[in-house]
Amino acid sequence: MAILGVKDLPVEGKRVFLRVDFNVPLTPARGVADDSRIRAAIPTIQHLVDRGARLIVASHLGRPKGAPDPAFSLEPVGARLADILGNEVLLTDEPVGDGARKVVADLRDGQIALLENLRFHPGEEANDEPFARALASYADVYVNDAFGAAHRAHASTVGMVRYVADKGAGFLMDKEIRFLSKLLGEVDRPYLAVIGGAKVSDKLGVLDSLSTRTDKILIGGAMANTFLKARGASLGKSKIEEDKLALARSFLKKAEERGVQVLLPRDFVVATSMDAATGRTCALGGVDADEMALDIGPETARGFADEIARARTVFWNGPMGVFERPAFAAGTFAVARALADNERAVTVVGGGDSVAAVEQAGVADKITHLSTGGGASLEFIEGKTLPGIAALETA
Ligand code: ADP
Ligand code: MG
Repeated sequence: MAILGVKDLPVEGKRVFLRVDFNVPLTPARGVADDSRIRAAIPTIQHLVDRGARLIVASHLGRPKGAPDPAFSLEPVGARLADILGNEVLLTDEPVGDGARKVVADLRDGQIALLENLRFHPGEEANDEPFARALASYADVYVNDAFGAAHRAHASTVGMVRYVADKGAGFLMDKEIRFLSKLLGEVDRPYLAVIGGAKVSDKLGVLDSLSTRTDKILIGGAMANTFLKARGASLGKSKIEEDKLALARSFLKKAEERGVQVLLPRDFVVATSMDAATGRTCALGGVDADEMALDIGPETARGFADEIARARTVFWNGPMGVFERPAFAAGTFAVARALADNERAVTVVGGGDSVAAVEQAGVADKITHLSTGGGASLEFIEGKTLPGIAALETA
């Protein structure tokens, strides 16, 4: 099984359907609040334009309910794309239909059409056959550069692909597959996972899978609270998933049987409210009944940083605390800096909030790979087959 790259595909003079992830945050006035996802797709778009493809770019944006909704129009995205490229971008009035068909039919070599939000049609998420065929009818070649949507079997990521003659991965998709695959194969050791974030329940699958491959797992964030409670600690009003204590306990037992060390916080930054301007540092046993653990403490952060410094491969997902608040961001930034400082290790960070934390810490360029996928990155690391990637494979 192999996946062709965009450079291997015959695209000159062809109609190329490019699935991208332009699901960008908008401002209240419906401007683009952050265009990094648009900029990330530029290398693939520019490559196709330069080679004379007739480009049909498609994405979803937000969660319109399977019907046109002006609040989720790709119009501001098309305008920003045109600005960045210095090229015209023709936005269709609907993802499929007479208007879209006409725009696509009139495309000349090197011209760009942007289909209106794919989720304006219920067939996108339902992956229904007529909608998939309608999308495929616009294209001679299919290219997917939307890694963040690859874990969903939708019409534009899976359904349409078998009706298009040639298919392959864009530069972004290719890079994600290459770097994330490294973590599933032979790696340099020690191999460390640092896992945090809001909920154990989101990440039990990935934890279980990581415990079959890594040497050590460091756990922080709200998720650590549930593991500590499972071991009998009292943590005041901290965020805890009471209904996951048994699962947490069985994970800890399994990890021990597999010889994987699990490190949990030994101290915290606590406060009575997330809105507190400052927190108090306390040891594991010292959380008062009205307090919450909102960050790992300095001793834990130092210990985690030392482990990271000794590792040769590190995967990080999930902040160590409520890093959105400066009073509770130190632990997360300490982990980000430790990854950046370890120049000998392959370091991969996945997850929307974790990637944002790396960027806020100013060390994004010192990380081997920042995975943009969120849910898709975690499923990949878990070893699952992503339908949007499987659909690209050529026998
Ligand atoms: P990612 O997007 O990187 O996968 P998550 O979405 O799982 O990460 O978790 C990020 C969220 O977890 C952040 O909003 C952060 O405030 C929250 N969080 C982390 N630690 C704690 C904590 N101790 N208490 C409450 N919330 C926390
Ligand atoms: Mg998140």
